[in-house]
This record gives sequence, C-alpha cells and structure tokens, in this order.
Amino acid sequence: METIRVNALIIGGGATGLWLLDQLRHQHRSAILVESHALGTGQTIAAQGILHSGLKYSLQGLLTASARQAREMPALWRKCLEGQQLPDLSGTHIRSESFYLWGTNSTASKLGMWGARLGLQVTPQAVSPHNAPALLSGCTGAVFSVAEQVINCGSLLANLAEANRDRIFQIDRDQGTDFRFDAEQKVRSVVLTSGDGRQVEVVADWIVLSAGRGNAQLRIAAGLDPRKQQTRPLHMVMVRGGLPEFHGHCVDGAKTRISITSAKTAEGEVVWQIGGQLAEEGVGMERADLIARARTELLETMPGIHLEDAWWSTYRVDRAEPTTMTGARPDSFRIERDGNILTAWPTKLVLVPRLAASLTETIATTPIQSPATVKPLADWPQPPVAKAPWDREQFWTSLSVSKAEAA
Ligand SMILES: Cc1cc2nc3c(=O)[nH]c(=O)nc-3n(C[C@H](O)[C@H](O)[C@H](O)COP(=O)(O)OP(=O)(O)OC[C@H]3O[C@@H](n4cnc5c(N)ncnc54)[C@H](O)[C@@H]3O)c2cc1C
Repeated sequence: METIRVNALIIGGGATGLWLLDQLRHQHRSAILVESHALGTGQTIAAQGILHSGLKYSLQGLLTASARQAREMPALWRKCLEGQQLPDLSGTHIRSESFYLWGTNSTASKLGMWGARLGLQVTPQAVSPHNAPALLSGCTGAVFSVAEQVINCGSLLANLAEANRDRIFQIDRDQGTDFRFDAEQKVRSVVLTSGDGRQVEVVADWIVLSAGRGNAQLRIAAGLDPRKQQTRPLHMVMVRGGLPEFHGHCVDGAKTRISITSAKTAEGEVVWQIGGQLAEEGVGMERADLIARARTELLETMPGIHLEDAWWSTYRVDRAEPTTMTGARPDSFRIERDGNILTAWPTKLVLVPRLAASLTETIATTPIQSPATVKPLADWPQPPVAKAPWDREQFWTSLSVSKAEAA
C-alpha cells in the first residue's frame, strides 16, 4: 500500500468540505477531500439555499445570538457570488435576489422596522398591494421584500468541486475510511479504500470530519464520542405543476409558518420546496397527511394560488448539528477538536464561510507541507454532485382539489 502525506484530509464533500478544500488550496496547503456517496448527499443538496441575514431569527423583535451570527454573511456571500472574493462562486446559480415576507398577524406589520433597529444589514421593504405577486393578492397582512439571496445548492456544489477536481476522490460507500491508531490510541493515519478495493494510506497533520450526519459514525470509528452531534429531522414538501417561481416566508408570530423556495426540475418545470414550521411538524406525519396539510396551508396563506394542476411529494432529511443542552438549534457553527481531528458542523449553510475560516486558522498553526503528491490517487474515480430531491423522487401524487372544494 502506498502512503501519502498531506496537511489536511477532509472527509465529506458537502458545502463545508468543499469550501474548506478551496480555501486551503488557495493558501497553498496540501489537502485532499474524500466522499463516500455523491457530493452534498444529506443536507446541502436538500437545502433551500436561503442566504439568511438573521431576520428569520429576529421575528420577536430581538437580536438573537443566531441573528448576530448571520448578519454579516449575506454581504460576504454576495462578494463570492460576484467573483470578487474567494472562493469564486460566479458559476453558482442565484435562484432569486430577494425574498418575500408576508403574514396575516401583527408581527408581519412590524417587520419593516426590525431589520434596521436590530442592526441587520438587510431591511425589509414594504411592497404595495399592486406590486405584490399575484399569489399574495388579497392577503390581509403586510407584504415585504428582503434582499436575501437564494442560491441553487446543486450548482454551488458543482462550482466548488469543478475548481478542485484533482483533489476530490470517491471512496467506498461502506469501507472507505479505516482509522489506524498508534500505541497511545491516537489516530496515526487513515487508510482509504476505493469502490474497487484499491487502498492508499494517508498521513495527515489534520483530519477534518465534514460528513454532516456521517460525522457521528466517523467519530465512533476514530474512537471519539458521537454524542457531540444531534440530529433534527425535517419532512419537506415538494409541489410542481403550473406554479410560478416564488421565494418567501409566511410569518406567524415568531415562527415561519411556511418557507417556499423555487427550483427547476431536470425537465425545466418549476418545483417548490416547502419548509418552515410545516416541515418540522410534518416529521410525525405520513406523507399523504403532510401533503394534505401543505395544500391547506398554501390555500390559507396565498389567496391567489391555483393548485388544480399540482403534483405533490415529500422527502425526509436530518439536520446534523453540534449538540445543545436543550436539543434546540445551535446559535452558530461549531468545531470539536480532539487532537488533530477537527469535527465541523456549520449549523446553517450561510455560516459555512465562517466555519471554513475558523478551520483554516487552526490548520494554519502547522507548517506548510511540500505540495502533496496525490499520484497514488490519480486514477481514483471522482464523485458526482448529488441529485436534487425533486429529480430523485419517483412518487408524485395529484390531489386535484379545487380551491372552492378545499374551502
Ligand atoms: C431541508 C433543509 C433545508 C435547509 N435550508 C437552509 C437554508 O435555506 N439556508 C441555510 O443557511 N441552511 C440551510 N440548511 C442547513 C444546511 O443545509 C446545512 O447546514 C449544510 O448544508 C451542511 O453542510 P455540510 O457540508 O456540513 O453537510 P452535508 O451537506 O450533509 O454533507 C456531508 C457530506 O459528507 C458525505 N459523507 C457522509 N459520510 C461520509 C463518510 N463516512 N465518508 C466520506 N463522506 C461522507 C456525504 O455524502 C455528504 O456529501 C438546510 C438544511 C436542510 C436539511
């Protein structure tokens, strides 16, 4: 078995691993990334891609810790998306430059003041009824527009992967990484196994676990406590058929009742991803019940919607996060350091740049290795980008119920 030496071995190629790989390469550090499935499998490909400004976490009118963490982020992402800052994300598709916020209760009417008062970089702008999208015409509450961008997560993964192709390798789905220990039970190296049984030993100054949900299993394999990670499930709804592109949160008190983002299927049809409170409460529901509930929510909150031609489906996904005392969403990203193993959770996609910067800072504490020779891995396959949930899904149901019937 051949051995290679690198500064960092990154295990897991979602947004976190790929962003970090790009950053390390630009600092001339030798790093490789290994992926056991398709890039972004798990959270990144399933995400809605909203580059939160923190407003969503300030719906009570308070600057929460989560909002404080997020408020600098949209400007940073914007620079990357314009190609003015590394990583160059000019190849990432922006689904929308802004987001609607609407609601029927008093919270919604206060949104306009909050962005500015809380020091957020984006402030909701009131939308006059004749400028509101047709879907929201007839809404009794206020409608706002927020300059929060929405990106296509599949194209983000492809963009980051393309720039670093020669450092990304596919490993076996089940036996891809084998941690080898020294006499003191410290990880000495990791043996990588490809799908066809080839093996290469990697001796790394730093091993970064950026495997999302897979971090727990990797931690066990590395002799570490897996309970540092919590998972919070979601049951997301997808709907397509005669729908316009739309991006928005319906606000109800301090919660987002539904969060809608639009994507396009491989055939070019608009498909809505629906998250928010609906997807949290949907966890305990069967697919058919959640779809029925989603339809009712849309009809109740969007007076101008037509669902007669709609086809529905759902998908389940776990958010993998650092453990909190209460099991609630952590306020920020976290890095768990155990010797030279760094376990990384961004908590939100929008926080990936901060997480990657922090990981890079730690990795920079060791001297730069001579450029890694990855020759032994040169002919290993490269992982594709994961398929979006709507392009993977076979089961779609039509509930041809007219608005009048539903009412
Ligand atoms: C439905 C949903 C919607 C979301 N919407 C938003 C949003 O709008 N805005 C926002 O800011 N955040 C959002 N998030 C959160 C965001 O998606 C995640 O915080 C972020 O994508 C996590 O990225 P990651 O790279 O750490 O993990 P992941 O994307 O889960 O990637 C982990 C990678 O590691 C690989 N892997 C797993 N095990 C192994 C192993 N043993 N060996 C090698 N590779 C392995 C996986 O195949 C995968 O490619 C959303 C999350 C979900 C679930």
